[in-house]
Amino acid sequence: MPIKVVKNLVSKSKYGLKCPNPMKAEYITIHNTANDASAANEISYMKNNSNSTSFHFAVDDKQVIQGIPTNRNAWHTGDGTNGPGNRKSIGVEICYSESGGSRYKAAEKLAIKFVAQLLKERGWSADRVRKHQDWNGKYCPHRILSEGRWNQVKAAIEKELKALGGKTSKSKTSAAKEKTTNSSNKKTSYALPSGIFKVKSPMMRGEKVTQIQKALAALYFYPDKGSKNNGIDGVYGPKTADAIRRFQLMHGLSADGIYGSKTKERIEALLR
Ligand SMILES: [Zn+2]
Repeated sequence: MPIKVVKNLVSKSKYGLKCPNPMKAEYITIHNTANDASAANEISYMKNNSNSTSFHFAVDDKQVIQGIPTNRNAWHTGDGTNGPGNRKSIGVEICYSESGGSRYKAAEKLAIKFVAQLLKERGWSADRVRKHQDWNGKYCPHRILSEGRWNQVKAAIEKELKALGGKTSKSKTSAAKEKTTNSSNKKTSYALPSGIFKVKSPMMRGEKVTQIQKALAALYFYPDKGSKNNGIDGVYGPKTADAIRRFQLMHGLSADGIYGSKTKERIEALLR
């Protein structure tokens, strides 16, 4: 039986704050709320406050509540105004993650079923599912991550999707599509250095690192979003390595946080 979604949508007068842009979603992003509020409270708080933070669905142990239409963007992934997390993904918050326990477990179970249902409706396979961390490095969904269960959650979604008769083969990777969408608005040229860059390598400081960081930022994989100059500081430290790792993860490369020829080529292709 399909999961019923209770709608409690943000008022149109708040679209400018909460969901200003039309969206054609390509991903689903999973979050943990990091508090112990019910889905109803989570949505009503989001709807009524005056900050821009927003998300499409909240799921607790009893129900799924929708706060933002899925054809509009929400601000939930911290990757900036034009970041693909914020502009191309549907945000699903799993409630009661602060304390965990049986209520949380039940919420997570319902969320897994619900995400599978969303995938089925769209004809997507489970490779469309992302964790918040993939977009900007934030440690979210914190409980799933700290319990080391992300792969398990993904497998459970895949299993549910299969049970619904959904698509199990890998859907066409979005990398090819991103290439076309990104290429038009990137006229600046980025001179990317050759060689291997990693944390503690002898080349970890200087203009070459800055070049890598600027290119990452142009693709919305900021080394440190929100800090001074978005973390573009010419130092190949853990935050830059993490931005590289996130980039690699989203583009089908081995996610080791090390900048080498393959990563260079892929960044160049996207910025061309
Ligand atoms: Zn999150």
